[in-house]
Amino acid sequence: MIKVCKFGGTSMADGTNIARVADIVNADPARRYVVVSAPGKRYGADIKITDLLYETAKNVRETGAAGEAFEKVKERFLGIARELKLEGIEQILLETEAEILRENSEDFAASRGEYLSARITAQLLGVPFLDARRYVKFGADGKLDGEKTFALLREGLKGIPRAVVSGFYGEDANGKVKTFSRGGSDISGAIVARAAGADLYENWTDVSGFLACDPRIVQNPRRIRSLSYKELRELSYMGANVLHSESIFPVREADIPIRIKNTFRPEDEGTDILPTSKYRFTEKTVTGIAGKKNFTVIFIEKSLMNAEIGFTHKVLTVLLKHGISFEHMPSGIDTMSFVIDSEELKNGVLEEICRDIEAAVKPDNLHTYDDISLIAVVGHGMSRNVGTSARLFGAIARAGINVRMIDQGSSELNIIVGVDNENYERTLRAVYDEFFNE
Ligand code: ASP
Repeated sequence: MIKVCKFGGTSMADGTNIARVADIVNADPARRYVVVSAPGKRYGADIKITDLLYETAKNVRETGAAGEAFEKVKERFLGIARELKLEGIEQILLETEAEILRENSEDFAASRGEYLSARITAQLLGVPFLDARRYVKFGADGKLDGEKTFALLREGLKGIPRAVVSGFYGEDANGKVKTFSRGGSDISGAIVARAAGADLYENWTDVSGFLACDPRIVQNPRRIRSLSYKELRELSYMGANVLHSESIFPVREADIPIRIKNTFRPEDEGTDILPTSKYRFTEKTVTGIAGKKNFTVIFIEKSLMNAEIGFTHKVLTVLLKHGISFEHMPSGIDTMSFVIDSEELKNGVLEEICRDIEAAVKPDNLHTYDDISLIAVVGHGMSRNVGTSARLFGAIARAGINVRMIDQGSSELNIIVGVDNENYERTLRAVYDEFFNE
């Protein structure tokens, strides 16, 4: 059994937390490879090391010196080393500062948080440190070169029973350090899990798993014990603040399950994200509910629209011309509508699109309405349970809320409901109560 564990910023925030990380890793011999983030916030108003490093890069660019921001970085790491009684960190920090000045690169500076925290963690655990720069490679197109990366890592991990790998960065085609986008250590963890042929990718964070609904809106929502990759994708796309589905593609492709765990409550079960092949149906109908506010609907009506070949094509061409992507396209026999993020339609774009649609298809009726919220009710179980939509719409009706739009994904994995923004929170609560407070 091989487990790869990734620890996020709060898990690495100070010496006490890093000592917890070491305890967690040492508690299970299967936890062989560890990927770490840079130290994050210790308290609400604290500054993440990565943010201090972006500021350092700016200082270097503008003044040629690392400045105050890097002093704070040094202080944080020296504090951590003191707490953990580790030696030699002063020297490493001096070398790092010199390198940041020499490289004068934002990505290089930003990557040093993970570099330093990985070195410290390796020293604490007494295992080798593997610098992601040597293993994680980007191609000339700026994208991860998976083939090269997995081959290099597989080779690098061979014969090394345990190791710490730095998250968040790798090396580009010109031999320069390049980072993933923010939060990218999740990807690094997934890459190592894939290369190590892990049986499980443990993602250690500061919450005990995913919740079935937004806790800012629904009181004490239930934890989701397990969900499939597909459900994760639906929920995270609709705004659920969970691990981003795109960030875990390396493990998804290799069918490796992910377990979300809480560093501060390791005994809690967490949430399992399972490949479809390992997914088991349970009694539950709905796995989770998520939603987003502020959509605009463009509604088009024309009699005998269905008989006019190329009608949809012409409308889509208008959207393409304006570079607009739409979320949903509910349609009827003589009607069609597009649900679009209102943000994309600002500064006169909506008016221009409507003018172009008028010209392209001469509709009988074209109107738009905004301030629409979308709520996604997600679960594989929905396809197996009779009466799910009756329950869903019954609950919304009993709350006295008018449904403005309905879209059921063809996979029967989700039902999307559109309501006025002002009814967003009430709809989420009504739907949650129906399916989870039975
Ligand atoms: N330290 C990086 C960030 O703050 C990457 C990560 O933590 O995943 O975005």
